[in-house]
Amino acid sequence: MKYVSYWHDTASRFAGAVQGPVEGHYDVAVIGGGFTGLGAARQLAMAGAKVVVLERDTVGFGASGRNGGHLNNGLAHSYLAAKQELGKERAIALYKALDDSIDTLEAIIAEEGIDCNFRRAGKLKLASKPQHFAGLAKNFEAVHAEVDPDTALLSPTDLKSEVGSPFHGAMLSKKSAMMHMGRYAVGLAEAAAGRGATIVENALVTEHSQAGGRHILKTAKGVVTADNVLVATGAYTTPNFGYFRRRIMAVGSFIIATRPLTDAEVAATMPGNRTCVNTMNIGNYWRLSPDNRLIFGGRARFSATSDQRSDAKSGEILRESLGKIFPQLAKVEIDYCWGGLVDVTKDRYPRAGYHDGLWYAMGYSGHGAQLSTHLGMAMADAILGRPDRNPVKDLDWPAVPGHFGKPWFLPFVGLYFKMLDKIQ
Ligand SMILES: Cc1cc2nc3c(=O)[nH]c(=O)nc-3n(C[C@H](O)[C@H](O)[C@H](O)COP(=O)(O)OP(=O)(O)OC[C@H]3O[C@@H](n4cnc5c(N)ncnc54)[C@H](O)[C@@H]3O)c2cc1C
Repeated sequence: MKYVSYWHDTASRFAGAVQGPVEGHYDVAVIGGGFTGLGAARQLAMAGAKVVVLERDTVGFGASGRNGGHLNNGLAHSYLAAKQELGKERAIALYKALDDSIDTLEAIIAEEGIDCNFRRAGKLKLASKPQHFAGLAKNFEAVHAEVDPDTALLSPTDLKSEVGSPFHGAMLSKKSAMMHMGRYAVGLAEAAAGRGATIVENALVTEHSQAGGRHILKTAKGVVTADNVLVATGAYTTPNFGYFRRRIMAVGSFIIATRPLTDAEVAATMPGNRTCVNTMNIGNYWRLSPDNRLIFGGRARFSATSDQRSDAKSGEILRESLGKIFPQLAKVEIDYCWGGLVDVTKDRYPRAGYHDGLWYAMGYSGHGAQLSTHLGMAMADAILGRPDRNPVKDLDWPAVPGHFGKPWFLPFVGLYFKMLDKIQ
């Protein structure tokens, strides 16, 4: 088994990063080479701005190269809950932004000719218990009537041609998609560089200050100055950006990938070939890869770290869960096991805006594979002084009480969700 992201392992490396030291003055410095940063950099460069991306590791090193590859449209939250929490207007705006995010990806992939197996597969939210189906149905009625007619409610009988496991019905979101995340990350970096952005890898930003109306960024590769800075560091935000560290909880999330399944195994388990997620609080999500591996993820353990030891422990739990959902795959070989950090906010809504001289977009809470490119572009538009399509503009963002960097409280959150899964 390889303890490496399947997406990293099966994509070529980005070859367009500048070599050697970095220096000089830029219109915009983007910190972080994930989808947020790269989407912003491409947009800025297309508008003629002089832009540099400063990435601590390699492009796509963070969550962008480690996720489950589900490009879900609409809200991850219940739409009904979002209406209550955000008000109807913002809940609809956020829902539509997630829809638009997938259109954005589709357009960029076509414009830039990125070969990443993008496909409008549709997403199934599968009821794990009979009582969960009533909740799904209630939410579906509101979603279908008010914001997304491209949805359907499926009965257990309908599901027979979709998933080879006994779920109690599902909501289908037809606009959702999937793609090869590693190939997209490299393709987006190539597109940004092709449009004129300077991309620097191994350039950890160690210090940030402001003087004379300019930002000064000390990096492992040299010092740059910039008129504007976009912080696009997500769950990997370093301690020198304390404002964001107090608002983002970096939570470990883990994935395993099987060997390529045979046609008969695919027909028995995933005949519908969509992205799937179940309704448990400590839930699982899965999809097929372009070469028919089952990519199966979940929180598994409530851990604040993702390293080989932590990933391997979680991988064992995921293998067990996989065997429960698909007993026919209980003994299948697992070829890959990896993890990554998710940038979770207290209310699990993303945040994007401007604070104390810094632009930012982050806090996707495990649902940013599609929104991150789109929100990065929206922040680029805001920097350029254009009308932007930021659905969370001016959304209040208080610090998480008692949180200064490492989320010490995660095990307690895990116990709480375990208990909920027993009683709900
Ligand atoms: C295991 C897992 C599964 C997921 N599954 C899904 C899914 O199926 N669907 C979905 O919608 N979302 C999913 N997500 C979430 C999604 O991947 C993220 O929301 C999205 O990729 C965030 O992109 P980003 O560019 O904001 O952050 P990232 O991709 O994390 O990029 C941030 C970058 O900033 C760099 N950085 C940090 N600090 C500094 C610094 N000081 N100097 C320089 N560089 C710095 C990091 O090295 C990193 O590369 C998942 C995430 C994980 C971890």
